[in-house]
Amino acid sequence: MISEISYLGGVCPAGPLGVQSGLPSYPKVDPRGWDLGDIEMAIALKRAELNQVMGYRKDYDAEEHNLCLALIRFQDGSSEILVAYSNDSAIPESTRLGLHLIPNVYDKLPPNERFGCDGMAQYHTEPKLLNYLLATLEVRQTAYRRQFLPRDPLYRFILQRQRQQARAQAVLSSDIKKVAAVVIVTEIDCCSTCTAYSIARFRERFPGIPLRTIELGKQVKGGVKPQYRQVTVNRK
Ligand SMILES: [Zn+2]
Repeated sequence: MISEISYLGGVCPAGPLGVQSGLPSYPKVDPRGWDLGDIEMAIALKRAELNQVMGYRKDYDAEEHNLCLALIRFQDGSSEILVAYSNDSAIPESTRLGLHLIPNVYDKLPPNERFGCDGMAQYHTEPKLLNYLLATLEVRQTAYRRQFLPRDPLYRFILQRQRQQARAQAVLSSDIKKVAAVVIVTEIDCCSTCTAYSIARFRERFPGIPLRTIELGKQVKGGVKPQYRQVTVNRK
């Protein structure tokens, strides 16, 4: 499946970024802001990449699972983007690392520091991103340090290098004290569990870090696509 993704060229006005799941909007908006067109482009491109990579599995529909970004702005003005997918357990490690999907570190955090409830919602993308953001560097790097290595020398070499790169990448954004603002961009709107146990909890714990959500209104069952305002996606 190949997607053609393009900007609408500013035809649609940006408008206020919506919160559709009953979340109270955060009073302070990150003054440096993120351009809506770039945000939509970032998640649309990641979706196209993911679908293309997973195309080899004929019985698997990657669109049935949520894709979510955390855009992190640091106090020094630099930024980082974390990517989470709600069904990454279905993806081989090498592919997951190639897509730069963050691992689930829920189990590795002290219970009182976790986002998400103890039900299935811990696998949702929002708590996954926030737990990773909060995780110490050690916790993150442990998640990338696995015992398994394939026998094939080429694949072994590739996987070792990918893990090495992921551990190096994990150093960025590993100090919550340096985070100035976070924007969560999700294809499927935040569910009530994630709203209560992840978004609201983060805002309570870190009142100095504005956390905004951009919910794109995708519905798997109704076949509703993400409601982009600046970007169009044509599937061929
Ligand atoms: Zn959820």
